[in-house]
Amino acid sequence: MSSNKKVIVIGAGPAGLTAAYELAKKGTKVTVIESTGSVGGMAKSFELFGQIVDCGPHRFFSSDKIVNDLFHEVVQDDYTLVNRLTRIYYKNKFFDYPLKLGNVLKNLSPIEIFQILWSYAIQRIIGKKNLETFEDWVTDKFGKKLFQMFFKTYSEKLWGITCDKIDSDWAAQRIKKLSLYEAVKAAIFGNKGNKHKTLVDQFAYPKNGTGEVYEKMATAILKMGGEILFNKRISEIEVDNDKVVHSMTDDSGIKYTADIVISTMPLTLLLKGMTVIDQNILEISKKLYFRNTTLVYLEIDSDKLFPDNWIYIHSPEVKHGRITNFRNWCTSINKEKNTTILCLEFWSFDHEELWGYSDEKLIEMAEREIRTLKLIETSSNVLNSAVVRIPKCYPVYETGYMENLQPVIDYLKEFKNLYPIGRYGSFKYNNQDHSILMGILIAKQIESGKDQNLWSINTDSDYQEQTEINLTGYNT
Ligand SMILES: Cc1cc2nc3c(=O)[nH]c(=O)nc-3n(C[C@H](O)[C@H](O)[C@H](O)COP(=O)(O)OP(=O)(O)OC[C@H]3O[C@@H](n4cnc5c(N)ncnc54)[C@H](O)[C@@H]3O)c2cc1C
Repeated sequence: MSSNKKVIVIGAGPAGLTAAYELAKKGTKVTVIESTGSVGGMAKSFELFGQIVDCGPHRFFSSDKIVNDLFHEVVQDDYTLVNRLTRIYYKNKFFDYPLKLGNVLKNLSPIEIFQILWSYAIQRIIGKKNLETFEDWVTDKFGKKLFQMFFKTYSEKLWGITCDKIDSDWAAQRIKKLSLYEAVKAAIFGNKGNKHKTLVDQFAYPKNGTGEVYEKMATAILKMGGEILFNKRISEIEVDNDKVVHSMTDDSGIKYTADIVISTMPLTLLLKGMTVIDQNILEISKKLYFRNTTLVYLEIDSDKLFPDNWIYIHSPEVKHGRITNFRNWCTSINKEKNTTILCLEFWSFDHEELWGYSDEKLIEMAEREIRTLKLIETSSNVLNSAVVRIPKCYPVYETGYMENLQPVIDYLKEFKNLYPIGRYGSFKYNNQDHSILMGILIAKQIESGKDQNLWSINTDSDYQEQTEINLTGYNT
């Protein structure tokens, strides 16, 4: 239906490229405009110190057949299955994740175990009906003590606001349908027989990093006659009073026209760039805000550090919240080198000092912190280091954020040829699979003319990881 219409996609991340790929398959003329020099967005992979790395840990997982089918269609056999090992570092101890009873008993004192069970029992008796905040939601499910041990510090590092200010939507999306009973049952009996759990114990990982999915998609788009323009940042969107987009302009003043526009650029910047906009909506949209990530990569002169793919760092004495060990994903990304690349994640807002730290300061802090946690030997050396900054990568679900987002959604729905999708594109805390699904569905909507209810992906969908004993909910 759209074949003779020209579609422009802003952003070559998972959402934008999937939409372009699906449309190109149907013969639609599609142009992707990307502000950076490469594809993959936050899920890109790149060469570093002679190896391949991702932007922090990037595990691909979906229980949705259409997403998995697309993954296989694009990646074909160029992937491997990775055994997942992730732990939580709390009070100088490692807790298996998902929790295992023996390991929990070994790590906690009898008093702490009693406190967990007692606070859980109390919670069951008192209960709380209005679960508006993350803190209320988690406490209701697990009790106060478990909330304090396994949720509070990490979540506050990640979001930069206290847990009583984080909307329960985040918990509901990421740690849905979970109970202490389930967690304990899994800890005692394991997850044998649970098909989904087995699936998430292993995950499919492209042999050249997670970004290979998008590199292959880009190649296919070009082969099908599509176009991808790099280093072009869209900053102005020319709109008329009838809510039709006529053209877009990039930072260098180049103008692009299209019949249909799919946007994956940050929602707030899309609104800010519109030439005609309801001022009230613009003001409301300014209340939506994002958290940034700074990634510090350290190359260590050892190939045997810790065994995890990544570790969640709860310890309040260090600023970073997660460490990825790229030695433990698949050997093909290590390119026969005998060093280990670690990646430490630091989160901050635009106005926080950390976001403005120099590379030198960040690298020095990362090395100090990794030594404080004793995750590398005293005798180990840092051979190389690098810093990558990812702005606006976490849409902050502050309590009541929907009161600001909903009017924006309603306003944008009135546009006749504009479709905002993606993680910061639609202010949704998407993983790759959600963004891919949005890309598939928007292409379907454009082709068929039938509304695919895109704004409800993630929040309303039965989140795929419900069967995982996802006690910490940290699939960030
Ligand atoms: C540290 C970290 C760890 C993660 N771990 C996982 C994981 O384990 N598993 C998982 O599935 N997901 C993970 N994710 C999430 C995953 O990266 C995202 O869900 C996914 O990349 C979102 O895709 P997207 O296309 O919606 O957005 P993006 O990837 O952000 O792509 C948007 C694209 O638009 C471009 N752009 C922005 N503004 C403009 C503009 N004005 N003009 C032109 N182009 C523009 C950007 O450069 C970017 O390429 C993680 C994310 C982070 C930050």
